[in-house]
Amino acid sequence: MFTGYFFFIIQILLFSAIYVVAARFGLSLSPISTFATYVWIPTGLSLVLLYLFGFRFWPAIALGALVANFFTGAPFVTALGIAFGNTMEAVLGAYFLQRGGFRSSLNRLRDVVLLLFVAAGVSTIISATIGVGTLVLTNVITSSVFLHTWVAWWLGDMLSDLIIASLFFVWVSKPSLKLDRKEIFEGGILAICLCFISFIMFRGLFGMVPQGSPIAYLIFPFLLWIAVRFGQRGTVTAVFVVSAIALWGTLDGFGPFVQQTVSQSLLFVQGFVSVSAIMSMILSSVVSERKELEERKDDFISMASHELKTPVTSMKLYTQLLQKEFAAQGNTRAQTIFSKFNGQIDRLNGLISDLLDISRITAGKLAFREGMFDITAVVKEIVTSLAASEVHHTIQVKGQIKGLVYGDSDRIGQVFINLLTNAIKYSPDSKKIIVRLRKQKKTVVVSVQDFGIGISKEQRERIFDRFYQAANAHEGTYPGLGIGLYIASQIIKRHRGRISVESIEGKGSTFTFTLPQAD
Ligand code: ADP
Repeated sequence: MFTGYFFFIIQILLFSAIYVVAARFGLSLSPISTFATYVWIPTGLSLVLLYLFGFRFWPAIALGALVANFFTGAPFVTALGIAFGNTMEAVLGAYFLQRGGFRSSLNRLRDVVLLLFVAAGVSTIISATIGVGTLVLTNVITSSVFLHTWVAWWLGDMLSDLIIASLFFVWVSKPSLKLDRKEIFEGGILAICLCFISFIMFRGLFGMVPQGSPIAYLIFPFLLWIAVRFGQRGTVTAVFVVSAIALWGTLDGFGPFVQQTVSQSLLFVQGFVSVSAIMSMILSSVVSERKELEERKDDFISMASHELKTPVTSMKLYTQLLQKEFAAQGNTRAQTIFSKFNGQIDRLNGLISDLLDISRITAGKLAFREGMFDITAVVKEIVTSLAASEVHHTIQVKGQIKGLVYGDSDRIGQVFINLLTNAIKYSPDSKKIIVRLRKQKKTVVVSVQDFGIGISKEQRERIFDRFYQAANAHEGTYPGLGIGLYIASQIIKRHRGRISVESIEGKGSTFTFTLPQAD
């Protein structure tokens, strides 16, 4: 109990010390009316402290603010008033974030908007108003500089919530980072480019850019790239780095924001930094939200197809058992019904397998059992077995391919079955389907031609996309999930082949895939 209390006091003192150091740093950078500055790190730190670790830490902020202002030369009463304002700012900011259901990962647009408006925008008004009000009331400054001082105070606090708080929120809430090799490479290159451009623009590196050139916007493409590819962690870190370099350069008299006085320069550079931060954080949250939804959808498909697989497999077993029993009893009517039932279960199984394949492709886990095989034999076998149950269409096979192909014969068979069943499904009013096999230099070419409904140009561009069904299928005329061609294209791609379609609406379509010939 006593140790816990002692430990708590140590934590309070420690944070107060950090607060004082951060505050003194800010006040050393050209303050307005001695006590207000455009660079005020403590606000962001205080918000994170109260929001992530609890409101009981408020005394640390009060103590830190009191000491920092007292040592800057404020009378004790004035320092007390300022400390009150700074503490209220953090308490109310953290309270409203909590009430708004804020998540510190900043992964949703809602979180960024809460941080921007509630914490950075509104809670900072409290501190600026109480702080500058106290300075005027205790005659430390005159009321004529109220507005000027207030703006600097508010802007400094707001930026701190935007840049410092977001940096700590995002990193403290989820410190582990998983990046694959490609992402590390891309991130490294981007980080180097970002620092390089920042140094050229804001620190006058190599004197490449004439002093005062308005080229600060060159940083935007890099910030946007990071926001799209590297989530909120990449974004807040990049914004922090750019801000630090921009500030450092501007204070030393470099870059596009340098004005006649340091405080004017700071006003301009901080304006630029806040716009960059707002823009990149909003973009990153929108992209993260979309990615998360996609992931959830993929997880759902994977889970649903796995869950469906087991009961359907059992159903299949039971129907086969019953079919055998009815056969033994000589009950032909029940047998016919059960064989139809079986057929429907097979269809269901096919759909579930497709969904499972989709999840495997998304997870990069579609497995192949590769070897040499005779593609002509595979094609002919499939045509024979489909033709046996197909009464409305005749399937002609033209040509043949000598030599073997290297790949997964089952998966290539799956692609061919898909093209053939589509040809049947989408040509209800014509009879003929032609399968062509030929060799072209070092590739084998398989095509399936039907004389059915055809596909319009706009639809042709999208039919290999996941979950895409052309308009006519949407109206419910043709059943399907719109995933067969996507799976087919992925399988062919993995075999280093190509799949394409030619079609005339109302006249029919020809789907063609190629595979490299084995040496
Ligand atoms: P589906 O399960 O809907 O058939 P696919 O991915 O196999 O899914 O096909 C995607 C869409 O491409 C279909 O919805 C259909 O509109 C169109 N399509 C595919 N094959 C043909 C074809 N032979 N003729 C006309 N349209 C086709």
